[in-house]
Amino acid sequence: MSKYCPSCGEELVDNAKFCKSCGMNLENMEANRNVGYNQQFNVPIVEKDHKVAIIAGYVLAVLIPLLGIIVSVYLLTRNTENAKRHGKYVLIVAVIVWIISFILL
Ligand SMILES: [Zn+2]
Repeated sequence: MSKYCPSCGEELVDNAKFCKSCGMNLENMEANRNVGYNQQFNVPIVEKDHKVAIIAGYVLAVLIPLLGIIVSVYLLTRNTENAKRHGKYVLIVAVIVWIISFILL
């Protein structure tokens, strides 16, 4: 029976501790399973939602860090690993750009 990464949908080898595609820690899957992920992981959980917010987050993080931070908070409060992961990255990018803009101005 095939299992799929709940983060990126990549097919997993049995007992894999990490997804070889996206690096997600799969040891947390047991916990996730209890809070509503697909029971058998037969169906890839591909998270196409929040894509616009993720892209907008990166763009805003570079152009207008404050708005990027707002978008990152939005992403971090979503229920999907995908949105949370990108939310973290957006936040990091926004903070770095903000700090750099303070140094330069
Ligand atoms: Zn993955």
